[in-house]
Amino acid sequence: DSVWDVVIVGGGAAGLAAAASLLKRKPSLSIAIVEPSDRHYYQPAWTLVGGGCFNPADTCRSTASLIPANAKWIRSEVTGFLPQQNQVIVENHQHLSYRSLVVAPGLELNWGAIAGLEETLGKNGVTSNYHYDLAPYTWECVQLLKQGRALFTQPAMPIKCAGAPQKAMYLSCHHWEKQGYLGDIDVQFHNAGGVLFGVSKFVPPLMEYVKRYGANLNFTSTLIAVEGPTKTATFRDTAEDGSTIERTECFDMLHVVPPQRAPEFIRDSELANESGWVAVDEATLQHPHYGNVFSLGDVCGASNAKTAAAVRKQAPVVAENLLAHLADRPMPARYTGYGACPLTVEQGKVVMAEFGYGGKLQPTFPLKPAVARTSMWWLKRYAMPRIYFSMMLKGHEWLAKPGKP
Ligand code: FAD
Repeated sequence: DSVWDVVIVGGGAAGLAAAASLLKRKPSLSIAIVEPSDRHYYQPAWTLVGGGCFNPADTCRSTASLIPANAKWIRSEVTGFLPQQNQVIVENHQHLSYRSLVVAPGLELNWGAIAGLEETLGKNGVTSNYHYDLAPYTWECVQLLKQGRALFTQPAMPIKCAGAPQKAMYLSCHHWEKQGYLGDIDVQFHNAGGVLFGVSKFVPPLMEYVKRYGANLNFTSTLIAVEGPTKTATFRDTAEDGSTIERTECFDMLHVVPPQRAPEFIRDSELANESGWVAVDEATLQHPHYGNVFSLGDVCGASNAKTAAAVRKQAPVVAENLLAHLADRPMPARYTGYGACPLTVEQGKVVMAEFGYGGKLQPTFPLKPAVARTSMWWLKRYAMPRIYFSMMLKGHEWLAKPGKP
């Protein structure tokens, strides 16, 4: 059986960007990308779809059209790892052998963790921008609502794009404000965590919008159950002394962000850390025990914000270090935890939160970071999708040069 130079698990943002960055450096590599889905999604635009500012179909492309020309797409699912034998197991118990492995299957949305949710998603005013089929329903619900109560929920961290739960709220509120309905809508944000945004520098500009829209913030309040037909949601609220109470609220619209975790075949594997994500060195993105294994994207256990923006900086680091490892050279590249969260505070304005490990600000442009800007909306709405498809997935590493040790 043949041995691939590189097997990549997952053909999402991270798997494709890594493949492109590797092939850019060494076109002769034999690369297999294992990806079960024939459709690839640009998920960052789903927030805009939910706000009525982006065509849903433009977030979806065929996987075939995005696989780099010199890579082989294996349309299958990885089910397990044999890192000591340098093999992955795919469907039908087949094995693929590799010289090095890139693990990038993203994360799992755990809809089932909220009782009653799955039965009512997409009806009864229950929606989520975290699914391609549902983001358009968010916009439908927003347009229909003229009075009543709208609930927006955020689960425990980590989640992909930690700002997305509140982005849905801001864009909805802005629409209701423009229509003159906002005063008749009770807007509640229920956050399982204790802060509005993890990097405190960005909280003041966000709080201005919270006040402007008259939204109520409920911290340490976790959605645990939904009943579609009666339009009720149950939350578990935790007090400072650790005591909890459950309370049920009725709603007219409910935007849910589901709890998130590593996929089961990762959690159950030897590659996982104690939290279930792929264990990596935070700087080199190399697995601590298996030197020929690297990980990036949402499944990666580094403490960065899980975003496509992070992938843009991680892919060149993985490419450089993996090739160095194969050639028995010291690994030259370091990732400093960059991630970005463009907070769509109103239609036409974005607070661009860019930061690395430990919440250290890493602005791309020489502008005061914690300010809502029209220019950043244009970047998010028009430039980023192009940067993603035409640059990041093609190995053109715009402003993504990896750091040195
Ligand atoms: P994905 O892109 O999800 O791809 C994972 C791939 O792995 C999928 O194609 C899947 O089919 C495949 N896979 C799964 N299981 C297996 C298996 N067993 N074997 C093989 N393949 C498998 N990021 C930003 O930078 N900015 C934003 O504004 C932003 N907003 C967001 C808003 C929303 C609503 C959402 C949902 C996400 C947002 N993100 C944003 C996050 C961004 O989309 C993710 O961080 C990014 O897609 C991560 O890339 P990934 O390749 O790790 O995962």
